[in-house]
Amino acid sequence: MKAETTSQRLRDYFFKNLEDIFVLFILVSVTLSHLFFHFQISLLNLYYVPIMLAGYLLGKRLAVLYAFFTALLVWGLVLANEETYLALRNQFEFNVDLVLWSGFLILSGWAGSLSENLKEELRISNLLRKELAEDKERLKILNEKLTDVNRKLEEKVENRTQELEQSNEELKKLSWTDPLTQLLNRRSCEEHFKSEIARFERTKEPFCIILGDLDHFKRINDTFGHNTGDYVLIEVAKILQENSRKTDMVFRWGGEEFLFLLTGTELSGGVIIGEKVRTKIEQKVFEHDQQTIPVTMSLGISIYKEGQDMEDCVKHADENLYSAKKAGRNRLHPQVYN
Ligand code: GH3
Ligand code: MG
Ligand code: MG
Repeated sequence: MKAETTSQRLRDYFFKNLEDIFVLFILVSVTLSHLFFHFQISLLNLYYVPIMLAGYLLGKRLAVLYAFFTALLVWGLVLANEETYLALRNQFEFNVDLVLWSGFLILSGWAGSLSENLKEELRISNLLRKELAEDKERLKILNEKLTDVNRKLEEKVENRTQELEQSNEELKKLSWTDPLTQLLNRRSCEEHFKSEIARFERTKEPFCIILGDLDHFKRINDTFGHNTGDYVLIEVAKILQENSRKTDMVFRWGGEEFLFLLTGTELSGGVIIGEKVRTKIEQKVFEHDQQTIPVTMSLGISIYKEGQDMEDCVKHADENLYSAKKAGRNRLHPQVYN
């Protein structure tokens, strides 16, 4: 790349200075020709130097014309009458050099116009190159700006996507969460149940559900007020969360009804968990607005059987829950209708 530039520069320099190089060449040639042919420089011959230079500088074509007519004159004279020519030559010291000079002039003129053309071409190509370089520079700046704008745009899109993903996540969480107790809601329970059934079909690992319903909750609301009722719901939700294992899931199934999804749990294991929760609720002292609220929960449990859907399984748990209510509340009834 660099070598190319250097050779290009040399070429440019040569063509730019072609006229000077030629003039120098002609002067040297003429001087040498005189030294060789005549061993002297005649006055007439010296005339040609400024003439040639003037022609050269004034215009290359003028120099060519001049040289052409001189040559025509000389050769015309020679052809027309050699004797006259010789007489003239003797009289005006015409000599062979005249022809040589004419040749040189033609050459110099030709070279001049050639170099003029080349110079013009060079000037244009330099101009174009300059314009091209400027365009390139402009393009580079535009490109940089474009890259910058693109980068900013990408950043914005990225940020916006992140924001959207975040709000999507929040929305999803909201749509899956019960606002009062912060437990997962019924909708979410349905989803988890489906995947639990799918897991069962793959692994045949047992799982059971417990449906818990607060006893006489309507009475709590009526006696202590709706706010106290809400407080009880929140506190019960906490007890349920705190007393479930990491793999268990607790949902707010309805108003004062909660559902446990106990993965990898046999009926006996479910009964233990249900009993534990029931006892914790029974033992907890619920205090709100300086009042103590008696809270108990009845529970019905059901183990999932192959081929059932969620409705079937919940129905059985509900039947057991109903049986627990009927038996006097604050108790857990295992699977009797299965
Ligand atoms: P049982 O022992 O038979 O279950 O009687 P219960 O009174 O608990 O049952 P019932 O279905 O008659 O009453 C449930 C009450 O729960 C009625 C409803 O107003 C109340 N409830 C449902 N959701 C909420 C809630 O989010 N906050 C409050 N404070 N009360 C609720
Ligand atoms: Mg109920
Ligand atoms: Mg109830």
